[in-house]
Amino acid sequence: MAKNIIDGKKVASILRQQVREDVQEWVGRGNRSPMLQAILIGDDPASRTYVAAKTRACKEVGIESETSVFPDTISIRELKEAIRSYNKDDSIDGILLQLPLPSHLHPSQIIETIDHRKDVDGFHPMNVGRLAVGQPTFRSCTPAGILELFRYYSVMTKGKRAVVVGASNIVGSPMAIMLSRENDSGKATTTICHKYTRDLTQHTIQADILVVAVGSPGMITGQMVKEGVVVVDVGINRVSDSTTEKGYRLVGDCDFETVSEKASLITPVPGGVGPMTVAMLMKNTLLAAKKSIYPKED
Ligand code: NAP
Repeated sequence: MAKNIIDGKKVASILRQQVREDVQEWVGRGNRSPMLQAILIGDDPASRTYVAAKTRACKEVGIESETSVFPDTISIRELKEAIRSYNKDDSIDGILLQLPLPSHLHPSQIIETIDHRKDVDGFHPMNVGRLAVGQPTFRSCTPAGILELFRYYSVMTKGKRAVVVGASNIVGSPMAIMLSRENDSGKATTTICHKYTRDLTQHTIQADILVVAVGSPGMITGQMVKEGVVVVDVGINRVSDSTTEKGYRLVGDCDFETVSEKASLITPVPGGVGPMTVAMLMKNTLLAAKKSIYPKED
């Protein structure tokens, strides 16, 4: 691996090993194994792959998991009923709702139905709000995983200029909140860009730390970044490629060839951020089982 490539697979495996040991210790003290309930709606192949990867990781670290698969015709009422039954079930510690949802289901409405104490994705407004005001919370797995990468690679964000491209509730916004608040790598001066940002390059070119989460293959090119930048490419895009068995390959939001020439560190796609997201979900599920964020009496 080239020396400026961040090895997300390796760091995620270290993290999973740590969670495995913590789960063993927790169960060794007479507690039951943590339990994750996954919800998969419809038959989107990418969503199936993600849920399969998450349940595989559960098995590896000693977390029980179950996946409920619902047809994409499920009504809001039916889905909310199912979620409420998981909320009440004391044998379930964490609830994972695989996104995206079919268009008739509004993510924010459904996410709010999940008990915030079981919201291991960290998407519930209660958890996002607590993140924003610096209280202990379930942190959204992808940005939290990115901070773990920074910790492992000794990337100091304190006082640096961080630019986040993409402002979704699940990646860009929580990433910007985490970077702009006190964190293990220090508070950065943070800019968040979205689809109405004018002259994107004017922002990206100034970044010491650049996180890109848009879903647009190769949108960030080498000309848009400065020498020495640390680049985290969150995007996962399928582009057709007849030379591969599946007929497609995965690429990020950065044009890897030109951006990696200038970056001091860069995450590859695949093998960068993706495995960290899964590892952080394991960590959050254990926190939920231990009632570490929300003690029982809350
Ligand atoms: P999303 O909900 O579609 O959000 C995309 C964001 O990009 C929006 O905030 C949008 O702005 C912004 N945007 C669109 N065009 C832009 C432009 N030209 N310039 C600047 N910003 C622009 O996507 P998401 O769920 O955040 O996911 C983003 C990518 O990350 C996808 O490829 C997804 O597959 C990937 N992803 C990877 C992981 C992982 O673990 N590696 C996890 C989650 C997502 P507005 O807010 O103004 O609409």
